[in-house]
Amino acid sequence: MKTVKGITWKNWARTCESTPEKILYPSSIEEVSSIVKEASKQKKTIRVVGAGHSFTSLVKTEEWLVSLDSLSGIEQFDEENSMVTVLGGTRLFQLGEALGRAGYAQENLGDINVQSIAGAISTGTHGTGLEFGNLSTQVMELSLVTAYGEILTISEKQNPHYFKACLVSLGGLGIIVKVKLKMIKSLVYEYRSEKVNYSQFEQQLDHYIAANRHFEFYLFPFSDIVQIKTMNISDRKPQSLSFHHFNNLFLENYLFFILSEICRLFPKSSRSISRLSAKAVGSTAIAANSYELFATPRLVKFREIEYCIPLYHFKSALQEIRKCIEAKQHQVHFPIECRTVKADDIWLSPSYQRDSAYIAFHMYKGMPYEEYFQDMESIMKKYEGRPHWGKMHNQSKEELLSLYPKLPEFLTIRNELDPQGIFLNDYMKRLWI
Ligand SMILES: Cc1cc2nc3c(=O)[nH]c(=O)nc-3n(C[C@H](O)[C@H](O)[C@H](O)COP(=O)(O)OP(=O)(O)OC[C@H]3O[C@@H](n4cnc5c(N)ncnc54)[C@H](O)[C@@H]3O)c2cc1C
Repeated sequence: MKTVKGITWKNWARTCESTPEKILYPSSIEEVSSIVKEASKQKKTIRVVGAGHSFTSLVKTEEWLVSLDSLSGIEQFDEENSMVTVLGGTRLFQLGEALGRAGYAQENLGDINVQSIAGAISTGTHGTGLEFGNLSTQVMELSLVTAYGEILTISEKQNPHYFKACLVSLGGLGIIVKVKLKMIKSLVYEYRSEKVNYSQFEQQLDHYIAANRHFEFYLFPFSDIVQIKTMNISDRKPQSLSFHHFNNLFLENYLFFILSEICRLFPKSSRSISRLSAKAVGSTAIAANSYELFATPRLVKFREIEYCIPLYHFKSALQEIRKCIEAKQHQVHFPIECRTVKADDIWLSPSYQRDSAYIAFHMYKGMPYEEYFQDMESIMKKYEGRPHWGKMHNQSKEELLSLYPKLPEFLTIRNELDPQGIFLNDYMKRLWI
């Protein structure tokens, strides 16, 4: 098994780093099980890393870090039951391409596709569209290596008492080595992007949410322009995405990087740069296979908080956010990303038992973010906001207990599966212990 020592691990956003004693790359489920048994014998703790795209210290460890990069790929297509089984380290783009070749797709995805499947479901990663739950709701069964080195199959039928706990578990219950997901027949979507005026947009918000399969929008600080993006099933022929990809790379990455650097050097320019970006939003309508449209490259580094609030608070929360940014003159030029997700019954899912609106706040790397995030977090807390587990937040264990009614049961299962705390690091102890 490949093992490396003395390497400093860093997450994508460079908000977290650590030098583990060793990084292990198992290439079989049996190797994962041996690692856990050995860690238990040597009284070592383990954290697992996917693609390192979480913003918090979930993965940080000075002891053993396990990566499933060598345990990836499709294991089985089950066309009869519309399911696919993948190994835990499989990246979402690998899965999308393989499914696409076979005429299938995942029903929903977030805005990037570089995460590992196990990492994505472990934090409740989501896309948008009120017909769809987060990515964990696509999971029908998973295989978990517990702190005893046991390999458990967990689903509604097998070990069902663990199922709803394991679907969003932050790597705190064990190592997810295999996931069986439902899949749908590949669809052609028409993607549309356009800008609308805020007051007109606000009146039509409920309609936009109900009338579109996938709908999201971006609020631009200090501007009355809102960018709306929709994706709906289309009978148009899929077209070449070369121009779309060029546009994404050039406008949303290279040009946005230059504008972001200007804001970092001259923070007072954030207001006019946000307005300029809003004005530059053009109208687009393209058709392509669904999995090719969900994700876009993200080359500009940022920090992020994202909260999930009950859908019925959406409009009031948006009004308050806009007012606060204006009143406090927060120096921010990144647009605020807003999405919707269907309620589910996964214990630690932010959308647990409520149709939800997700609101994400970004700040360019190197720019002060504390005051902006604190103000936005206070607004989100006022509206019963639950934090995205992979993004920055300042919630205490007491607050999390009041937000997640099933957290006590989750913690009981955690103690049962991992009594020695092999899968805990300091950050997770702060959240849960
Ligand atoms: C640019 C960018 C865009 C993003 N877009 C979205 C978005 O559209 N929607 C959204 O909801 N989120 C989004 N995120 C957040 C991201 O999807 C989550 O943080 C996700 O968990 C990252 O997956 P990963 O593979 O990088 O996992 P990591 O960040 O490496 O790990 C996340 C958690 O999963 C655990 N884990 C990883 N592998 C395993 C395993 N095999 N078994 C058990 N536990 C494991 C880790 O221990 C950790 O607790 C975005 C993040 C970035 C940086």
